[in-house]
Amino acid sequence: MFKIISKSSRSKARAGKLKTPHGTIDTPAFMPVGTQGAVKAATWQQVKDIGAQMILSNTYHLYLRPGIKVIKKAGGLHKFIGWDGPILTDSGGYQVFSLAKLRKINDEGVTFNSHIDGSEHLLTPEKVVEIQSIFGSDIMMPLDECVAYPSTKAESEKAVKRTTRWAKRSKEAFLTPSFGHPSPQSGEGNKRGEVLFGIVQGGMFKDLRKRSAEEIRALDFPGYGIGGLSVGEPKDLMIKMLEVSTDNLEYEKSKHLMGVGFPEDIMEAVKFGIDLFDCVIPTRLARHGAFLTKEGKEIIRNAKFASDFTPLDKDCDCYACKNFTKAYIRHLFIAKEILPLTLMTIHNLRFIIRLMEEIREKIKNGLI
Ligand SMILES: [Zn+2]
Repeated sequence: MFKIISKSSRSKARAGKLKTPHGTIDTPAFMPVGTQGAVKAATWQQVKDIGAQMILSNTYHLYLRPGIKVIKKAGGLHKFIGWDGPILTDSGGYQVFSLAKLRKINDEGVTFNSHIDGSEHLLTPEKVVEIQSIFGSDIMMPLDECVAYPSTKAESEKAVKRTTRWAKRSKEAFLTPSFGHPSPQSGEGNKRGEVLFGIVQGGMFKDLRKRSAEEIRALDFPGYGIGGLSVGEPKDLMIKMLEVSTDNLEYEKSKHLMGVGFPEDIMEAVKFGIDLFDCVIPTRLARHGAFLTKEGKEIIRNAKFASDFTPLDKDCDCYACKNFTKAYIRHLFIAKEILPLTLMTIHNLRFIIRLMEEIREKIKNGLI
């Protein structure tokens, strides 16, 4: 499913092609986040026009609302939301730990109360695979335990053990013929071509990161998610943990650094062989009136833009930059119009997608 087309001689960076049932994407790639089945303030056509090839959606949110019955009836997530490109769905584990109330975790799974209506739910590794199979996600993620930062070594070790046990159960569930993707070894073939990645945890401990990577690697997943990073730790610590995680995984398999998407983090992480990124930051910043430029983040409400008739970024080729000025977008923000949310979202996503295009070119030209 993953083919490396260009390798860096300076680092583990690579440019590749990732094949999914809904199309092949160029990597390293950034996936805009469609939490509830939409990239906030943008249409799918706009998401496509800025060059995004794959999106990430959240199992937790869609499972709670509208629920799997509706998505099944619609014919899967792609049909329900009207996006025909590849979709990666997370396991919902992170949201259970960060959003849900009254959670209880044991080996069976996680019991929690919905943040929407308080209803009680149990998510098990098997259930999480079943939900993503009903969605028809191109890349699925297994239920894992992500510890908070900071966490003790004992807590982190417990989470590593559980993540491995759950990964085994997830893989068994994934290969259950009723879910539609039996193992190619079974002779039936994986008809739909969907895949389940493994997730590496380990908190902020080098030996636990190594152990988690080795245990998950032994389960032979087609690709990996590196989890539990960018949770509040200092950058240099994140990079060290990323390095140990990727050093202990096969170079040839694709890797997703979950939830990381600041430009400076992306530029650093590709050097460790990361192929996929996702983050809500570019779209969230846009809705709060911040736009991304090569020099950093700017706030559109700033008085200095009141009569600035230049685009958000003079080098940007997005719809917002080609057609509108900072002064106009600032005026719309202050007047509480909803259009600037869309314009800024288009710009910020295009900024990150352009960064990915530049990174791919640099890798091909031996500059990273
Ligand atoms: Zn732009």
